[in-house]
Amino acid sequence: MTTDSSNPTRTSSPRRGVDGALIRMWGGKNLRLRVIDREEVAENFVRLKVDLDGLLARDAVYPTYWLRLWFTTPAGKGHQRGYTLVDPDPAEGTAWIEFYLHPGIASDWARGATAGDEIDATVLNGRNPVAETPTHLVMVGDGASYPAIADTLRRLPEVPATVLLERGYADDEQVLTLPAREGLSMRWIDRDGSLVHTALATAGAAPTGSTFFVALEGAPTRALTSGLRRQLAVPKERIHSLAYWKKS
Ligand SMILES: Cc1cc2nc3c(=O)[nH]c(=O)nc-3n(C[C@H](O)[C@H](O)[C@H](O)COP(=O)(O)OP(=O)(O)OC[C@H]3O[C@@H](n4cnc5c(N)ncnc54)[C@H](O)[C@@H]3O)c2cc1C
Repeated sequence: MTTDSSNPTRTSSPRRGVDGALIRMWGGKNLRLRVIDREEVAENFVRLKVDLDGLLARDAVYPTYWLRLWFTTPAGKGHQRGYTLVDPDPAEGTAWIEFYLHPGIASDWARGATAGDEIDATVLNGRNPVAETPTHLVMVGDGASYPAIADTLRRLPEVPATVLLERGYADDEQVLTLPAREGLSMRWIDRDGSLVHTALATAGAAPTGSTFFVALEGAPTRALTSGLRRQLAVPKERIHSLAYWKKS
């Protein structure tokens, strides 16, 4: 991270080490994002509008599309974390990134980010979970995947959806609001270990042919994905699951 007193903006462009080499080998494409606006939504939630360095002219930024952002550790090393692009605007070449804040280097960067700040990013993500418009969507997430879930619901208003969100902070329900639309059933679950059980019961009652999106902490992501496959025999093509963060 470079800072000087005449130019208070910051650039996060760290050494990338082994992670960087692997991502390059797998075909990751690099870009540099520039912060152009900031919205303070709540103590634990901030939105940054970013210029996408021409990405929207080159790639279809589908709902849940994410980038690997290169934050910088105090020792100057790369700290790579995934963040979702929401509300892309092809005419402006911009999108928003929404940060659910907690202790962490990425969260700290977002807390301090102002217009003009820049950060390196790499595109290397998976497949589009809604490439073939689903007949019904079941989305299970938390604060980290709320941006992906809310954006998907906004951009596919015609698709009926069932959403389960795990509460990380007491005010999540007021802060992480979903779009008011037809065909949406929504439930909040406390972070008390009950999520996987409740989600499997909900999934079992979902219409046949539903598409599932699971994006939680590592352990519940694995447990729910395995339950969907083994207990409910959901075909793997209809499950899009990825651990969004790891408990330490
Ligand atoms: C594909 C993908 C898309 C993502 N999109 C978003 C997004 O749009 N917005 C967003 O906010 N996050 C998103 N995440 C999650 C984000 O990358 C992680 O939360 C990341 O670990 C944050 O990095 P950090 O440096 O702040 O904290 P870390 O250094 O990773 O962790 C520091 C501490 O915070 C804890 N922690 C990390 N994440 C969380 C969390 N979400 N809730 C509670 N505690 C946590 C860790 O257990 C650890 O104790 C996404 C992740 C993936 C894989």
